[in-house]
Amino acid sequence: MSDPTRPRQPRIIAIANQKGGVGKTTTAINLAAGLAELGARILLVDLDPQGNASTGLGIEAENRKLTTYDLLIDDAALSDVIQETDVPGLLICPANADLSSADMELFSNEKRSFLLHDALRQPAMDAFALDFILIDCPPSLSLLTVNAMVACHSVLVPLQSEFFALEGLSQLMLTVREVRQTANPSLRIEGVVLTMYDGRNRLSQQVETDARQNLGDLVFQTIIPRNVRVSEAPSFSLPVLSYDSASKGSEAYRALAAELLARHPIAHTETV
Ligand code: ADP
Ligand code: MG
Repeated sequence: MSDPTRPRQPRIIAIANQKGGVGKTTTAINLAAGLAELGARILLVDLDPQGNASTGLGIEAENRKLTTYDLLIDDAALSDVIQETDVPGLLICPANADLSSADMELFSNEKRSFLLHDALRQPAMDAFALDFILIDCPPSLSLLTVNAMVACHSVLVPLQSEFFALEGLSQLMLTVREVRQTANPSLRIEGVVLTMYDGRNRLSQQVETDARQNLGDLVFQTIIPRNVRVSEAPSFSLPVLSYDSASKGSEAYRALAAELLARHPIAHTETV
């Protein structure tokens, strides 16, 4: 039940696709940076034991004393887990390999699918005054991803512009349907975003045509091109928007952020 005395709650979006290497983490980092540039306050929850989002935003392994694992399993306080990044307005809940045992440890916990849901809805969250929470999911449909789907309002699916891209999507949609039926009836698909698109490659064009034909309006207008600056940025611990602000990749993630903000306006940003 929403409490009218509480501030407006952030929109929670899980970035999920059980395939690895399709651009989930890249999209989580750069969409978050794009939203932050437009004046939104974002929390990126790293829900992948690989911790790539944490590394990509410059949180060194030794500075991840408390992580998403502690938040889920040990009831750690949000204020002890959440860290600032170098991007103004962008906070992160970092992850490390501890999270890989969470699936096993949670097995006998009857609230196991709701741990992230409950953690993100603690009253202590209000103090962060967030507009969005983005969750970077692991490459599986494991209990961690289910936790993300139970916790979120919508799922954003990065789709790599390559052969077989649409395969596997039906499995993901099936999981979304199951979560809708059991734990989160209002769960929506926020949209599908084409990533690593190469306009000179007919295969990329074919994937786009197929995706728009099959998924219609679910496909974001914005397409993320394959761009070497995007892949270089994490080794400098920066979103591409900070690493090379004028790159094609930065422009695309800015456009994606604007497309998302147009759907979910926030009070204190400029009109986009
Ligand atoms: P996932 O989180 O789905 O496993 P990543 O975001 O880690 O995928 O991306 C996989 C690899 O592809 C990474 O090396 C990343 O730098 C690279 N990559 C992602 N998006 C792009 C892009 N638009 N252009 C070039 N390289 C990209
Ligand atoms: Mg990843």
